[in-house]
Amino acid sequence: MLRRNTNQRQIVYDSLKFLGHATTDELINYINENYENISLATIYRNLGILLDDEQIKKVKLQDCEVYETSKSNHYHFVCKHCGKIIDITPTEANTFVNSNTFLGNNRVEELEVTYYGTCEECLNKILN
Ligand SMILES: [Zn+2]
Ligand SMILES: [Zn+2]
Repeated sequence: MLRRNTNQRQIVYDSLKFLGHATTDELINYINENYENISLATIYRNLGILLDDEQIKKVKLQDCEVYETSKSNHYHFVCKHCGKIIDITPTEANTFVNSNTFLGNNRVEELEVTYYGTCEECLNKILN
């Protein structure tokens, strides 16, 4: 199938890459502030295509869903005060299961871990 609007899809991808993690609303606001107005439908459609092509990932958090372009295996830290989302790289030390580990007779293929707390910046504000 020939896909049109490649340029708009690139804009959606580049915007998401710049933002790191973004809800659909955040992405729409950013695109409309920095590029020509792209319709909601177009943004949703391109997000769907990028997801299907596995160029972006959807991450479900406690309060929202965000998209990201990073495909590396990582966890998230969400600040309960400012909402900032920080990528946490799993280290050997805190990775107790990974691909091809078996839990009973069930094979683990993905692991989603999200930490909630206070980020460094907010901690500094509270402590100072
Ligand atoms: Zn914070
Ligand atoms: Zn991430």
